[in-house]
Amino acid sequence: MAGPVPNRPALLNPLKSTHMTDYDVDLFVIGAGSGGVRAARMAAGLGERVAIAENRHLGGTCVNVGCVPKKLFVYASHFREDFDAAKGFGWSLGDPQFDWSRLLAQKNREIQRLQGVYEVLLDQGGVQVIAGQAHVQDAHTVAVGQQSFRCERILVATGGWPSVPDIPGKEFVVTSNEMFALDTLPKRLLIVGGGYIAVEFAGIMHGMGVATTLCYRGAKILRGFDEDIRDFVAVEMGKKGVVIRFDTHINRIEKAETGFLAHIDEGQPIAADLVLYATGRKPNTAGLGLETLGVELDTKGAIKVNDDYQTNIPSIYALGDVTNRVNLTPVATAEAMALVNHLYVQQSTPVDYDTIPTAVFSQPNVGTVGLTETEARKRYPDIDIYQSVFTPMKHTLSGLGEKTLMKMVVNRSNDKVLGIHMVGADAGEIIQGMAVAIRAGATKAVFDSTIGIHPTAAEEFVTMRKPME
Ligand code: FAD
Ligand code: NDP
Repeated sequence: MAGPVPNRPALLNPLKSTHMTDYDVDLFVIGAGSGGVRAARMAAGLGERVAIAENRHLGGTCVNVGCVPKKLFVYASHFREDFDAAKGFGWSLGDPQFDWSRLLAQKNREIQRLQGVYEVLLDQGGVQVIAGQAHVQDAHTVAVGQQSFRCERILVATGGWPSVPDIPGKEFVVTSNEMFALDTLPKRLLIVGGGYIAVEFAGIMHGMGVATTLCYRGAKILRGFDEDIRDFVAVEMGKKGVVIRFDTHINRIEKAETGFLAHIDEGQPIAADLVLYATGRKPNTAGLGLETLGVELDTKGAIKVNDDYQTNIPSIYALGDVTNRVNLTPVATAEAMALVNHLYVQQSTPVDYDTIPTAVFSQPNVGTVGLTETEARKRYPDIDIYQSVFTPMKHTLSGLGEKTLMKMVVNRSNDKVLGIHMVGADAGEIIQGMAVAIRAGATKAVFDSTIGIHPTAAEEFVTMRKPME
């Protein structure tokens, strides 16, 4: 991966000279991740004098230790199954070999390229990039090392950081951050957690040939998703060979002769060569100086903001993961656009938090938008559920036995589609289109009158005719 962010000389935005203020910059952004970069570029594009500080790598979590390298790993890991499936289609293959270090080198090359793209975009956009840890000194001053900036407004977009529960032996475990730079792959991996990261890494590591056990403290993984989706994806992952242990509580990690032992409340310890804790992320607010200043945080350390991303200190704003609302890249960038429109275009473009589509890049994928069945039943008296479980065409010959689940939640009183959920190949790709329909307020009748694309799995969404009894 590229080294830390280089310090850039102050660029003279041609539009800057029109400003006559006592401030060095109009907007100082802390954190060059998804939200911070979008806000900085947009504001500078509108003629504001903008600086951005970054203490690690341009692009933040998503580019360096999140969405991007994760998805590359998902692609890499899926080949194993694809090679198996190929046999059912007449192919004969030798014994495919996987080289982790080659994948890492390839991944690092791509991440470096993206960091370079971000650098150019910020530079050319007239944003001053400052390498280092930023600290808020007062409502209008940010310090980075020896430098101090007087700022009309400060935007905190410092993201989050993996959080590991305080148990004996926590020093032996790794988090998602380290998974992107392992020297070697373990033979046996224990993953703790049942959220996005745990489930995605279970598929990745299993696909790369690692014997993978996922330990979750509850009865169903992926809390917050539709109940049928939660059940179905766990079954499909299990069919592929990921061992999922529910209702399992780890109380201590011990170093063993080879690897580690995870002691659990429920029985014999679990042996593994590597233990990954994917037990959530906490907002990155420590050491920023916000508490001293009186910026209100919630009990998890997330910055509290109003609908315009403003904290209780009027000149300080925050968005993205550091506010711990919906911790996804497109949400952080949407919030950034809404904020810049509000501040510098005097335009209100609020983010609609009700219809945020999301995918878990598990194997198979989960894709979802809108209300789950449980949420819909709480809000509306009469709900119809359309559901289909089938073997997608590819798997009629692949021999893999993978099944797909598609589900629609419909408000019977006005026929509006309230939620769409799927487990199956490319669910993320399919649900993106469905999200447009939901945002447009599509009724079930609109789906029914839409011509399908044959033969696809997605056509099932326009051919489900009978609600479940
Ligand atoms: P970040 O991107 O985290 O950026 C914050 C930046 O601030 C960082 O670069 C940090 O170094 C910097 N910083 C922090 N403190 C300071 C300081 N004091 N001074 C200077 N700089 C500072 N989302 C999706 O939508 N799709 C996915 O597939 C997906 N996959 C993910 C996979 C993993 C493993 C993880 C961990 C996350 C994933 N996410 C995904 C979530 C996504 O990465 C985040 O929601 C997104 O990056 C949040 O953007 P942000 O701008 O709020 O913060
Ligand atoms: P999540 O909040 O999604 O999941 C955390 C998991 O850890 C939950 O299953 C939770 O259980 C469990 N957990 C929490 N505390 C403990 C504990 N003390 N002991 C045992 N288990 C515990 O967090 P992740 O770390 O998986 O991901 C962070 C966020 O990043 C996601 O929520 C998502 O917003 C984003 N992300 C998005 C991705 C995508 O878009 N594809 C991919 C990866 C991350 P319980 O449910 O019982 O609370």
